[in-house]
Amino acid sequence: MAQILFLDTTLRDGEQTPGVSLRTEGKVRIARALDGLGVDVIEAGSACTSEGEREAIKAIVSEKLDAEVASFARILKSDIDLALDCGVDSVFLVAPTSDLHIKWKLKSTREAVLGKVTEHVEYCKAHGVKVDLCCEDGSRSDTEYLLKVLAAATSAKADRFTVADTVGILTPPKTEELFQKITAKARIPVGVHCHDDFGMGTANTVMAVKAGARVVDVTVNGLGERAGNTPLEEVAVALRLTSGHKFKLRIEGLNRISNLVEKLTGIPVPPNKAIVGENAFTHEAGIHVDGILKNPSTYEPIKPEIVGARRRFVLGKHVGLKSVRMILEESGYRLTEEQAKSVFDEVKSMGDKGKRVTSVDLDTIAHAVMGVKREKPIKLIELVATAGNKIVPSATVKLQIDGDTVTSMGSGDGPVDASLNAIKVAVKGVPFELKEYHVDAVSGGTDAVVRILVTLKSGGKLYTAEGAGTDIVLASVDAMINGLNAIMSKR
Ligand code: MN
Repeated sequence: MAQILFLDTTLRDGEQTPGVSLRTEGKVRIARALDGLGVDVIEAGSACTSEGEREAIKAIVSEKLDAEVASFARILKSDIDLALDCGVDSVFLVAPTSDLHIKWKLKSTREAVLGKVTEHVEYCKAHGVKVDLCCEDGSRSDTEYLLKVLAAATSAKADRFTVADTVGILTPPKTEELFQKITAKARIPVGVHCHDDFGMGTANTVMAVKAGARVVDVTVNGLGERAGNTPLEEVAVALRLTSGHKFKLRIEGLNRISNLVEKLTGIPVPPNKAIVGENAFTHEAGIHVDGILKNPSTYEPIKPEIVGARRRFVLGKHVGLKSVRMILEESGYRLTEEQAKSVFDEVKSMGDKGKRVTSVDLDTIAHAVMGVKREKPIKLIELVATAGNKIVPSATVKLQIDGDTVTSMGSGDGPVDASLNAIKVAVKGVPFELKEYHVDAVSGGTDAVVRILVTLKSGGKLYTAEGAGTDIVLASVDAMINGLNAIMSKR
């Protein structure tokens, strides 16, 4: 079985995600993480885009990573020159090959594009860099024409030949047919570049590999324009567990790099996302948890530890007694059978009322059952928050933390953001990250009761907590303080 190379384009195609614009420092951090993961080629950006983009590519080049560093370029000498100026190892040279793109975008002809492919591949090679010739909109191009482009690129000494499904219209059977035709004729490694418009990016990429493709283009968390690119984590795990292909990438770092990219881009990973979603290894239902405790394979097709993730059990109305006991033990409680049963009954009844049982609720129930009354480490004494159209929303909070009075200020996008920022300043010694903030209006009207649910992450563990009331700012502050109290009680 041939070795598969991973080309990661998080920093180029992934950065084209609406709303994402990374600064040099963030790009360098992602590039280092990709290199540490064992990615073979990092497409660091598109040198023709801007001065800032070139600065980032140069900074990544100067890191002297093990990975090959590439820049995107069109079939234009000026684009290639800008890429060469950045000192990249290779050029990801993109030539549109569908009649649609050639006629409407380039206002050119098939013959002229073929000539430009030869000319520009040779130009890159003459300057001592590798070239990956990528056929843009390849999946909507005439296959006979793609083969001519392949022959031209090969004669001009291109190092790789990639077919892009630029608008994500392939299906696995079509992918297999197309890539079989290409790889049968190719004397250089063939790459596959898919988009997820029909949710088939991973399936098509894996199918292309089966049909002989050797380079997979991917992005972390599947970032990219529209529905995104093929997710790195999905392809890596699918190839590792369902094919005999070897590759250098270390899948145990997938969870960590997903978190880093989520944090730096600000694009949240959906909870039900394969491999790296918060729920990918989370179990609630009693029957499932019971099975997993007997043998994890019963309901876990992928072991969480192989991608650096952790199995998580959550409480709700489907929960079983065994899971409640296990979660209590994991949380450090030593309860008798009878006490555990009481906690279980209470959790079930909260679930039946349609309530999500937070980790703070579980603590409260466990303490009540054990008859322990505990001082909360953080208490709110005073809150003043301002909002308006002529000012920067700001907030001042006075908190009691472990008996000391602490006053702090914050500003933000609105009074809630400002208040939560003020709290963050006050508890700066407690390491945590706000992972989720969710608002529900329980009844209609401007005096509605709102329920705020927050999820905080600290020391690799998740803490969920709630706050409720008619004042959204106070309810948010309560939820945050409840969560922080849970974290501080665990210290
Ligand atoms: Mn693309």
